[in-house]
Amino acid sequence: MSYDPDNIFAKILRGEIPSFKVYEDEQTYCFMDIMPRSAGHCLVIPKTPCRNILDASPEQLCACMATVSTVANAAMKAFGADGITLQQFSEAAGGQEVFHLHFHILPRHSGKSLGPAGVMGDMEVIKAHAEKLIAALG
Ligand code: 5GP
Repeated sequence: MSYDPDNIFAKILRGEIPSFKVYEDEQTYCFMDIMPRSAGHCLVIPKTPCRNILDASPEQLCACMATVSTVANAAMKAFGADGITLQQFSEAAGGQEVFHLHFHILPRHSGKSLGPAGVMGDMEVIKAHAEKLIAALG
């Protein structure tokens, strides 16, 4: 399976599609999921191309995990969360829909189930949640 440079997240990285940025460093970019399954649902991606966990380099994975850790801790604070669910899907059979490696960070509250996938969120709410995360990142 080869990398398609026209996938949605590649377009976000090139600034061709808007996104609510939460955090970035030299190697990674974190932005809000527009179909959030919990308040604060965001995605961490490498800035360099790879489809998923099956072709990612150790460097891409290490950089993404460092950002996941940073943002997950900020999300705990920002949303008064009780825990974090981290998801990664590889290839269509694994549940992947966008073919640029990404990790879902889902802040969780005890006893509260994840919302359904594929439901568009309210952009004003998502923007406010991005701002909360940014503030918690300090
Ligand atoms: P996966 O490939 O892991 O199944 O899911 C892709 C994720 O990307 C979904 O959670 C979906 O809501 C999110 N998504 C799809 N299109 C866009 C988009 O244009 N912008 C953003 N920010 N997220 C998207």
